[in-house]
Amino acid sequence: MMRLPRLRYVAPRTIREAAAALADAGPEGALLAGGTDLLPNMKRRQQVPRILIGLRGVQGLRVRELGEAARLGAGLTLSEMLRDAALCAAYPGLRRAVASISTPPLRNMGTLGGNLCLDTRCNYYNQSLEWRKAIDFCLKKDGTICWVAPASPRCWAVSSSDMAPLMVALGARVTLQSAQGERELAAEALYVDDGIAYLSRRPDEVLTDVVLPPHAGLRCTYLKLRRRGAFDFPVLSVAAALRLDGDHGDAPVREARLVLGAVGSHPVLAAEAGALLVGRPLSEEAIREAAEAAARLAKPLDNTDYALGWRKRMAGPLIAAALRELRGDGPPPHGELARAGVRGRPSGAC
Ligand SMILES: Cc1cc2nc3c(=O)[nH]c(=O)nc-3n(C[C@H](O)[C@H](O)[C@H](O)COP(=O)(O)OP(=O)(O)OC[C@H]3O[C@@H](n4cnc5c(N)ncnc54)[C@H](O)[C@@H]3O)c2cc1C
Ligand code: SF4
Repeated sequence: MMRLPRLRYVAPRTIREAAAALADAGPEGALLAGGTDLLPNMKRRQQVPRILIGLRGVQGLRVRELGEAARLGAGLTLSEMLRDAALCAAYPGLRRAVASISTPPLRNMGTLGGNLCLDTRCNYYNQSLEWRKAIDFCLKKDGTICWVAPASPRCWAVSSSDMAPLMVALGARVTLQSAQGERELAAEALYVDDGIAYLSRRPDEVLTDVVLPPHAGLRCTYLKLRRRGAFDFPVLSVAAALRLDGDHGDAPVREARLVLGAVGSHPVLAAEAGALLVGRPLSEEAIREAAEAAARLAKPLDNTDYALGWRKRMAGPLIAAALRELRGDGPPPHGELARAGVRGRPSGAC
């Protein structure tokens, strides 16, 4: 049986106390939210903090404001967000992404902040201590080689959070608080293309909340490929958010943000593909061009489930399906994509 190592648990009541506890703990400390990722990782000795700063009692992380836009505290659980009918109606893409994360018991524990700061994943890393020891450790923890790309000086572990691509597509902003003060940054700036140092968050910072853009006129969706429909990490995902110059699906696009998830160590913003759509209606030709441009950025490696060639080939169809949904065609039909694992209850575009 895998057991947690001995550790000290600190239970702050405020964000300020949490930031102070994190600063005091230094490299030995880690924030614990729902623990659905951190605790299994600690049992496998992938992460070895000696002091856990529990965020459960920090009321300031449980903000939920919904007006023209939304502000969501990092401590909200995924289940709380799913039960929030007004929030889900305002941002159906968010509902789709949250609903696709793990299972109901894990969503009761798992939080928005924990999901956005989720550790990157790799077939050679998400294994028991004994397994990793048997083949020898890798760069991400305790080793000197990358088993996926042995000549590479860097780690290519995969960003596997379902909320991260969606927040980047929405153009959300996140707030980080340390004992020194607070700073706000675009969600895309929170992520770094590095399997080890995958966040620009400093070790002494607490992610406190996320601000979403105004929802009026916003169309957003999230599609995810995974092996099991019941629950599984993404092997490829697409988050798309756009605004049209008009109410109908055939109006020209004013703004578009397309993001690929699970194809690299960070959510990949396909800015050029989004720009290709601007000023044009979502015709089949525009969709094809944008999907081809975005799919060129999908460069998965052989370190998650499914063959990497197939994951790469699926990027174009998945992006096209997301754009057709936002045009008003409805969610992808139960055809090839659905059989291949595209999941999500029909929610239409927001
Ligand atoms: C069987 C299984 C299936 C899963 N499937 C999915 C899936 O399909 N998609 C998916 O995205 N995830 C999945 N997960 C991962 C995980 O359950 C979720 O990502 C969850 O949202 C993590 O949140 P948490 O609160 O439990 O994070 P924790 O485990 O508490 O923390 C995760 C990381 O975030 C840091 N952290 C937490 N809160 C903050 C904060 N406020 N500020 C700064 N850092 C913080 C922690 O220090 C830690 O490094 C799965 C997990 C399991 C066990
Ligand atoms: S990508 Fe390489 S270094 Fe990173 S976790 Fe996988 S095997 Fe280890």
